[in-house]
Amino acid sequence: MKTWKAVFPALAIAGAVGLAVGQQPSPVMAIKAGRLIDPETATAAANQVILVEGEKITAVGPNVAIPAGATVVDLSSLTVLPGLVDAHTHMALTYKEQPENYYYYLTYVMESTPLRAIQAASNGIQLLNSGFTVVRDVGNNALYADAALRQAIEQGWLPGPTVIPSGPMIGSTGGQYWPTPEMYKYHNIMFPEYIDANSPDEIVRAVRENMLFGARTIKLCVDCKPWGYSVEDIKLAISEAAKGGCKVEAHVQTIEGAQRSIDAGVYIIAHNTALTPEHHRQMAEKGIFLAGTDTPFMPYRGSEAAFKRTVANLRDAWEKKVPLTFSTDMDYWNERMKDPKSGEWLSRGDLTINFLETWKAAGIPPADILRAMTTNGYKAADIILQRGPIKPGFYADLIAVAGDPLADIDALRGVSFVMKNGLVFKNNGVMVPEKFFNPGPVKTPNGRWTR
Ligand SMILES: [Zn+2]
Repeated sequence: MKTWKAVFPALAIAGAVGLAVGQQPSPVMAIKAGRLIDPETATAAANQVILVEGEKITAVGPNVAIPAGATVVDLSSLTVLPGLVDAHTHMALTYKEQPENYYYYLTYVMESTPLRAIQAASNGIQLLNSGFTVVRDVGNNALYADAALRQAIEQGWLPGPTVIPSGPMIGSTGGQYWPTPEMYKYHNIMFPEYIDANSPDEIVRAVRENMLFGARTIKLCVDCKPWGYSVEDIKLAISEAAKGGCKVEAHVQTIEGAQRSIDAGVYIIAHNTALTPEHHRQMAEKGIFLAGTDTPFMPYRGSEAAFKRTVANLRDAWEKKVPLTFSTDMDYWNERMKDPKSGEWLSRGDLTINFLETWKAAGIPPADILRAMTTNGYKAADIILQRGPIKPGFYADLIAVAGDPLADIDALRGVSFVMKNGLVFKNNGVMVPEKFFNPGPVKTPNGRWTR
């Protein structure tokens, strides 16, 4: 990974923003953007100045005066846009093709919860390096490692995207597993990969527990088993989740499960494989987000036949005007995940951005792909009132690329600048993250699970 150079931190940040070593940075930062994209309208404004004070944007425009003493970040040769969103990933799960063959019992048995939590932290940094400033982390997350990582990032322990964690997926007996009787009954193998919830009382308890332990969204296994959830079950989860400010995502893998999820009015449906054109029509009508998990056909993943189906399904959802998000379901690794030219390992960020291949194959215009990766992602993550738009009052989460993603979406493969919460994480293509690291929970004075 060429951009992962070791850089002496103090020199790097000073050089990056044009400061002499030892000079204290001003609390105001002025970013000169050559072009500034508004993905909502698919327009770009030339020569804009963005003022950032602390964590937030305070002014944007062509004639914004740069205060004396402000630190100037010159991105005048680049295109600036909001950070990207992966609406479906699993940072604390990386199951191996061999010997696991895509079942992750072995990961669960052989990789400890602390190890998986550390993997999640690494994956978060890799995703941020590729421009993903928000991720929805929805299940299989090593005993709430997703929520712990969210908390650690929010408190200022380390850099990473804004994490919208779900905690364990809630399902009826068996979740996505088919365990043996002894593993199920005597060794409690379901938890913490899944929470079994088999009655209205258990559904309410499971939703409450996930929110208590830091979830920001609730994920239901609607039809992982033939005895999955009814419309009434799903509605109950939605109303209970709403009490804690959470929206509900339905994992869907059957036609019937899709219809029950739509009828119940879930906020997001994960996986597009079982959805029919009629489902897409209903989702568009109801404004239900799709996190399709649109896997590309790559030397390390997929098949041509599966890819064709995925592309056709994505295309149909786009034609029906379903609110689309960019979503990957990344949770795997194998020894073919290398750059074919350099032979270097692809990062989790590289693997994530490769999902663009599916969107391009579906013939979706760059402006709509970009909207899925930003505006719709922020809405699906339910944080659009705080993050996303590059406007005064919003958190300063923004990235910069050479070229124009509105004309060539592959420009997003070259993210050279990343700002998260007003701090420069990457500049000139090099990570400069030392300002994110702190010796304590410097940003959480109000208690453990502040919302
Ligand atoms: Zn998933």
